[in-house]
Amino acid sequence: MSVLNQKTINENINLEGIGLHSGLQANLTIKPAEPNTGIIFKRTDLKENNIIIPNIFNVSSAIFCTTISNASDASISTVEHLMGALYGMGIDNALIEIDNQEVPILDGSAQPFVKAISKVGIRNSNAPIKIIKIEKKIEFNDGKKIISIEPSKVSLDIDFELQYENKLIGTQRNVVKVYESDLTDIYNSRTFCLYEDIQKLKDMGLAKGGSLDNAIVVKDNKIMNNEGLRNEKEFVNHKILDCMGDLYLAGYKIIGKIVCSQGGHKLTNQLLRKVFLDKNNFSLIEIKEKSLPHAIINKSSLRSIA
Ligand SMILES: [Zn+2]
Repeated sequence: MSVLNQKTINENINLEGIGLHSGLQANLTIKPAEPNTGIIFKRTDLKENNIIIPNIFNVSSAIFCTTISNASDASISTVEHLMGALYGMGIDNALIEIDNQEVPILDGSAQPFVKAISKVGIRNSNAPIKIIKIEKKIEFNDGKKIISIEPSKVSLDIDFELQYENKLIGTQRNVVKVYESDLTDIYNSRTFCLYEDIQKLKDMGLAKGGSLDNAIVVKDNKIMNNEGLRNEKEFVNHKILDCMGDLYLAGYKIIGKIVCSQGGHKLTNQLLRKVFLDKNNFSLIEIKEKSLPHAIINKSSLRSIA
């Protein structure tokens, strides 16, 4: 069976926990789905109009987390870490049922999703994968925040930099090849915030479920979590995870190169909206093994594309 065929999970995955921003308890079930289904969310606490497609044009808010909504205003927030895990693990098709408005934050990273997917295993199909190939360089900026995407040969590269005035976070940069690099540090990296921003977030009605169990909190030169950091570049690595999750809202895996400085959910979404407004910017290709040069098939670089 081809490694370039669509994949789903072998069995149902059940996870539960509170939402980072809503503080609400939710049960999440990820179910296997047929080829060409894509990733679909379903709010099981709502009787009708409860299907929500994770698509860039369905993003109703991208401030502090990514929220997707349908035409009836049913929404699901904080989808990005789960979407990042599905992207990295090569899951093309899955039905995600949730009985509340926010995906559980769990430990603040994608690790619990990745572990759960690894535990049940991945099922291959006979249907070839589809991939979005970026054909033109597109840029989007908002003041000092800059993001661009440009063509690449067979990889998705994410080159991300963040710059914080806080000295402990400071300037961090990392470059990841999504289909080739070991993504362990990306999956493990937790969401983070500055201690002084917690009250601001709470005043905005956000971070109601936030705690040291699901976020890194930085106060001046100190990490408030007893266990410290999980890896040296945990801050920027988490931003790369967010970026992967937000990119997967394009609907398919992408071949291209992202360069981003100081971006986040909103900037990634604005870039993708710009890309997909013009059909000349990209092409949607169906990858069949026989249509690829042999050298590429043999490259382990394509191991996790599918
Ligand atoms: Zn995040």
